[in-house]
Amino acid sequence: MTENTDTPATPSLSGECSNCTAPHAVLYFDPPYSPHYLCPECFRRQTLYDGANAQLELLLREAVAAWQSVWGETYPRPDLGERFHNLGDKLEEEEEAARQERRTRTMHIQPPMSAQQCREALECIERTRAPLLARRAALEEGI
Ligand SMILES: [Zn+2]
Repeated sequence: MTENTDTPATPSLSGECSNCTAPHAVLYFDPPYSPHYLCPECFRRQTLYDGANAQLELLLREAVAAWQSVWGETYPRPDLGERFHNLGDKLEEEEEAARQERRTRTMHIQPPMSAQQCREALECIERTRAPLLARRAALEEGI
């Protein structure tokens, strides 16, 4: 008896990239979204994100455990989903405020030109001015 490997439980090992539609992508297990196919570039990015998320989760677990060791007896454990959601919103607001502040500062304070930038600007002016002066001189001679 031969085993049927073409059932929905055993998806093909390669297909179109689920992220960018590139051909020849490989199967990537990402429950509950399986089967999921990723091309080499998307696969590299996804594994990087997976590693970053795993590290963040580890750091958060340690922080929550440390917090519970201090507050756990007097303050019942809060709804972590709600706490993290509120913290995420707060961080996004702070990042947007900082971006806005940098944009505002950049618009008002233009750094002075360096000596090299001044030289290049003057050279550019000379390059564009010289042909115009020559043409004007030729016209004056013709008069
Ligand atoms: Zn891709």
